[in-house]
Amino acid sequence: YSAKSERNQVQFYKRKFSQQENKRRSIEKKLKVAIAERHLHLFYQPRVDINTGKISSVEALCRWDDAESGSIPPNIFIPIAEETGLIHELSQLVMEMVCQQLVDWHNTGVDITIAFNLSAKDLKYFDLVHNLRDTINRYGISGKMLEVEITESAAMTDVINTVKVLKQLKEFGVKISIDDFGKGYSSLAYLSQLPVDNLKIDKYFISRLSPNFKDHMVNLNIIRTIISLAQSLNLSTVAEGIETPNQYNTLKSLGCHMGQGIFFYHPMPANQLSKLLQREARLARNTINQ
Ligand code: C2E
Ligand code: MG
Ligand code: MG
Ligand code: MG
Repeated sequence: YSAKSERNQVQFYKRKFSQQENKRRSIEKKLKVAIAERHLHLFYQPRVDINTGKISSVEALCRWDDAESGSIPPNIFIPIAEETGLIHELSQLVMEMVCQQLVDWHNTGVDITIAFNLSAKDLKYFDLVHNLRDTINRYGISGKMLEVEITESAAMTDVINTVKVLKQLKEFGVKISIDDFGKGYSSLAYLSQLPVDNLKIDKYFISRLSPNFKDHMVNLNIIRTIISLAQSLNLSTVAEGIETPNQYNTLKSLGCHMGQGIFFYHPMPANQLSKLLQREARLARNTINQ
């Protein structure tokens, strides 16, 4: 290496770093405005009973369409919200939108549980439990209509605190799911202490179930193990990211309870989901009347 080329390289990385830094800052600024002006919205993805194919609940997924940059995915803006502390306002907005949607659906004769995502930072935020209770009271909703999804790694970050917060949420009827299960590092001793209802098997394992993958048998066995772990802890299982009939059949034969994924339904806007739910309700009524 010549000193000059080394200097050039340092320059190059500095420039690249500051470009990324600028981009991040610009997203942060815009996100702050988007939250304040309520420009975020939710898509809903049905979770179906694997045996009957019937929709059992839905997951709310945050969407952000920026006027300049177009649609910015949650995998980009959620980490930025977490780093900058905006996540608390974002989560509060998500809770309000979820509650408003429950009210709207209830008024059209549809009652269905909505699961929404919280981040590790939310669990650390001392006002979370108070705010959620306050929000559901303001909208006149029962906690039973809500489910909170927290990732395995978030749940395991500070287990003593997690147990405390989740217990408080359960006190007003909220159900709890561990999201992306199998991807983090769970302590099995702690897992049995967490007051949770569902394990959501990370889509990574589901995506590698096809025989094209060298490790598909390993993945099959991992999924089998997660399902039997869930059974011994009395938890139900949800497989996320089901895309093919083959994945669906495998999960069904392994005894997984519920599934989500584009094999069933893509995430969709609320009005589209309303139509779907009303059609399901009509079909169910017709079957009963026959
Ligand atoms: P997640 O909670 O694990 O959500 C599942 C992700 O899988 C969603 O991505 C969903 O659109 C996607 N998905 C659905 N079906 C399929 C499929 O068949 N195949 C594949 N490959 N993917 C599928 P999305 O909406 O981009 O969200 C990504 C992540 O961002 C979420 O993962 C969640 O961790 C986070 N997130 C989304 N909305 C919120 C929110 O309101 N608050 C927080 N804190 N995090 C959120
Ligand atoms: Mg989730
Ligand atoms: Mg997940
Ligand atoms: Mg995920």
